[in-house]
Amino acid sequence: MDAPQIIAGRFRVEREIGRGGMGTVYRAMHLVLARPVAIKILKEEFANYPEVTERFMREARTMARLRHPRAAIIFDAGRLEDGRPFIVMEYVEGETLAVRLAREGRFTPEAAVKIAVEICDVLAEAHRLGIVHRDLKPSNILMSERGVCVLDFGIAKILATASDDATTRTHFTTGSGAIIGTPRYMSPEQCLGHKVSTGSDLYSVGVLLYEMLAGRPPFVDALASAVLVKQATKLPPPLPTLRDDIPPPLTTAVHTLLAKRPEQRPKTAALAGALLQRSIIRPPAQRAGVETAMPLASTISILSSNRRAAARTVAALALLTMCGALFFAWAQNSLKTSGSEGAIDSSARGRDSASPNPAQTSAPPLTPDTARRIADSVLRATINDARIVRVRRGESAIAAVHNGRGVGASQLYLIQKRKGSYRVTERMSLDADRAARGLRWTTEVVDADGDGSEEVICTGTNTKGNSHDAQRFILYVPRTGKTYSLQLAPDKKESNVLNAQWSPNALSPRAARYRSILRQRAESSLSTL
Ligand code: ADP
Ligand code: MG
Repeated sequence: MDAPQIIAGRFRVEREIGRGGMGTVYRAMHLVLARPVAIKILKEEFANYPEVTERFMREARTMARLRHPRAAIIFDAGRLEDGRPFIVMEYVEGETLAVRLAREGRFTPEAAVKIAVEICDVLAEAHRLGIVHRDLKPSNILMSERGVCVLDFGIAKILATASDDATTRTHFTTGSGAIIGTPRYMSPEQCLGHKVSTGSDLYSVGVLLYEMLAGRPPFVDALASAVLVKQATKLPPPLPTLRDDIPPPLTTAVHTLLAKRPEQRPKTAALAGALLQRSIIRPPAQRAGVETAMPLASTISILSSNRRAAARTVAALALLTMCGALFFAWAQNSLKTSGSEGAIDSSARGRDSASPNPAQTSAPPLTPDTARRIADSVLRATINDARIVRVRRGESAIAAVHNGRGVGASQLYLIQKRKGSYRVTERMSLDADRAARGLRWTTEVVDADGDGSEEVICTGTNTKGNSHDAQRFILYVPRTGKTYSLQLAPDKKESNVLNAQWSPNALSPRAARYRSILRQRAESSLSTL
């Protein structure tokens, strides 16, 4: 055993429990507290890096804030007499996900999702504290009696060379060039040495899920450098090509986590967890008497974590609702083009771009990356936002937003496969009136009414990000072709008061679910400004 019997005068080393790329882990006993701990003694090459312990001490305060039943906390660090740094962690009894995968090969979708959701659970808390894990992989996931426990939070950051900017960079090499982080599980941005964010951890969760379902990670190669390149540039083989009993929503969820661009992944770990949980639930139509939770309940928690802003916003909106919603001309103007209340302009059917998309004739399952590429190629423009929408069971479409300059130039397109090629099947102008000038549009996909088909919410915000500027929220229901909208516009007399203006159809009792989700969107958008 290449470790002293007593470390730091208070830990008695009992036995080696594992070896990793950076060092060896021992089980030890705290002599005073009689509590087992795990001590990671780093390899000799780190002896030349006093920064490791210094950085640990700097990070310790942040990491000590992470108290979660699904995280093994790191609580001490120091140096052995020979200079090797060590890190003292909570000892967790159990078997790693790596061992379980080696034994069982792959898991049922339900078992895999359960593990991933538990990981998302602890990530949500870590991310809230500003801690990004950076090295999620099967050997850092312990399956203990209490469920999943994630090891090594923040260690990759501590081990990075001091010459890197530890707050933003991936710093995945040591001074001698060894990689910190594991290419198989690293996000494209990490592989490229770009800025690491909470979304990088969500990508790694995508890789873990993929491996738990398919029995192999998306990118495998004997050469670590080849894996880095594939991770950054190649699309993962579609899950259904490796296993045929994965529920389609789960396939979509995994490929969404594996989107190359962080902004195309779920926005938070909590949303990722909720998405995964929903992905293995049968559509409500098939379940008798079960009430579906309103999607996007997480916006409510965002609001409650920012109570003051939320209270202000809710009060403002309540006041506005009391004043009575104003019907606004825009709703009629922009939607009149299609003739009926709230219906989308279908005049573009087959006309805008009927050009077949040869690349897609052999149609792999849609992923966020392929959706964007298809949208770019069908619309012959660089699309600002493209999302996959489940328009009905077994049928997906692409909702793409193009932000144009000038009135009427920003458009929402629905792109669907018709006779073997993708075409624009619906199109609507998001800013046909002057009030919407200068808004920049983003989209998200929700199942607001819980009917198993999804809706698209387009959010138009002023690029200046000023809470007193006009904002517009449009919910489009592909199943019915209707749109519902809410606009927040500064009051003519009091410019710091926002008036809420609903499209007439949004006020009908049947549109209650849509109205409620639009209001949530408006509230959360105001509270985050
Ligand atoms: P890697 O994560 O690359 O496998 P590590 O040095 O972090 O390398 O860990 C080596 C092994 O030690 C892990 O695979 C795990 O089995 C075990 N281990 C690490 N930390 C703990 C801990 N806190 N509690 C129990 N076992 C641990
Ligand atoms: Mg580890």
